[in-house]
Parts: sequence; structure tokens; C-alpha cells
Amino acid sequence: MEAPELLACRDVSLGYEGQSVLTHLDLSIREGDYLCIVGDNGSGKSTLLRGLLGLLPPQSGEICRSPDIRRGNLGYLPQQTRAQRDFPATVYEVVLSGCLNQKGMHFFYSPAQKSAALMNMGKLGVLELKDQCYRDLSGGQQQRVLLARALCAASKLLILDEPITGLDPAAAQDLYKLLSYLNRKEGMAIVMVTHDLKAALQSARTVLHIGRSSCFCGTVAEYLASPQGRRFREVE
Ligand code: ADP
Repeated sequence: MEAPELLACRDVSLGYEGQSVLTHLDLSIREGDYLCIVGDNGSGKSTLLRGLLGLLPPQSGEICRSPDIRRGNLGYLPQQTRAQRDFPATVYEVVLSGCLNQKGMHFFYSPAQKSAALMNMGKLGVLELKDQCYRDLSGGQQQRVLLARALCAASKLLILDEPITGLDPAAAQDLYKLLSYLNRKEGMAIVMVTHDLKAALQSARTVLHIGRSSCFCGTVAEYLASPQGRRFREVE
């Protein structure tokens, strides 16, 4: 039996001001999936993420969300900007802010939210950095903190936009290992936009390649056998 569906695009077109960037896209993201989204610059990867996150309504077609996802059970790791890297808060405050979605009308964080924040920091190996200022951390440590923050929001689905940008190869490898752990051991579904196709293919199960004229979506093996994937193998 197939795992329950979390997010799906049915014949979706997305774009801006009447101009389409992506057209007639069909995509299904299920519990426990690991999907990598690849494609040239400007092909529409971030546009698709905006659609999946509900920030950009489709021009046509339908983006379906499971009740869990509609309730906000979704963690998002945006591309880090310089201003975010300089954020003047402690690691604990940054991680705890991942619970903001669930605060509702309450002004203070609940004890359960505080312990979830501490648990997620422990899981990602940043607990000992708890009282340090976020902006003093290395790029790799900052990404771990942001992942811990995303886990406070989500137990089912993580969406990541170019998460290894600016990381050295060791820190990037470390991040991929963490993502694989979350996917395999904790059943977290992962959707990741990346340029690092080689490393991504080692962990991902499915690939969406957004091309100029058409999109490919299939398993890693199917992708490597496809014209788009074969091109990647030639340049490897
Ligand atoms: P990618 O993430 O693959 O690099 P994007 O989704 O950022 O690509 O962009 C796809 C296309 O949409 C590009 O041609 C870009 O110029 C255009 N685009 C992106 N954001 C906007 C926007 N806010 N308004 C108008 N056009 C945009």
C-alpha cells in the first residue's frame, strides 16, 4: 500500500503576472519520500517551492495538501541571506521560534514546546551551543540550528532550498547525513532544491528535473537512464 499523500500538484501551472514559469506539472509527495528538485538557474525551482508552501497560488490546476500539512506541519529551510546569517539571537531563541506557528493566541512558549526545542537541538548536535549567539556560528552549525528550528514546526515534511550553499564539503556531507537520518529513521519526508546533484542522488529516492521544455519526475534509477540524467552522467 502506498504511504499517505502529503502534498500533490495536479496539472499545475505557476508563474507571475500572467506569465507561466511551470506548466502542467503533476507531482505527488508522500510520507517518507525524499525528492530532489534540480534544473538550470531560472528554470522555476524556487517558484515551485513557493507554490508548495502556499505562498504562490497556481495559475491553473490544483495543489492539494493533507490535513496535517494544512495545519502547518511543514518545516521550511529557506536560502540563507546575509541578513539572516547575522541574526542577533541565541541558538535557543532561534530554534524555539520554530514553534511560533503553534503558539496561537498564547504569548509564551509552553513547557512542551521548550522541551521539543531542546530535544531537537540534542538530535542535531547543537545543544551545547544553546546560549551562543547565532551569528557567531559557522555556516554548518547555523544550518543545523535552522534544521532544529524546522523540526519544531514539522514532524512530517521538510522543504529545503539550496541548503548547502556556502558550506564547505565536510559541512555539506554532514548536512546530507543528517537529512538521510531524519528521512530513514524518523520517517520525515524531504523535498530539497539543490545544485549538488551527485551528492543528492546518493540520498534521494526521486528526482524532479525541471527542464526548459519539459519536466522529468521519477526514481533516481529512472532519472539516470533518462535523457536529462544521461546528460548529467556525461558531465560527471
Ligand atoms: P530557479 O529557482 O530555478 O533559479 P526561479 O523560480 O527563481 O528559478 O525563477 C523562475 C523564473 O521566474 C525566472 O525567469 C525568474 O526571473 C522569474 N521570477 C522569479 N520570481 C519572480 C517574481 N517575483 N516576479 C516575476 N518573475 C519572477
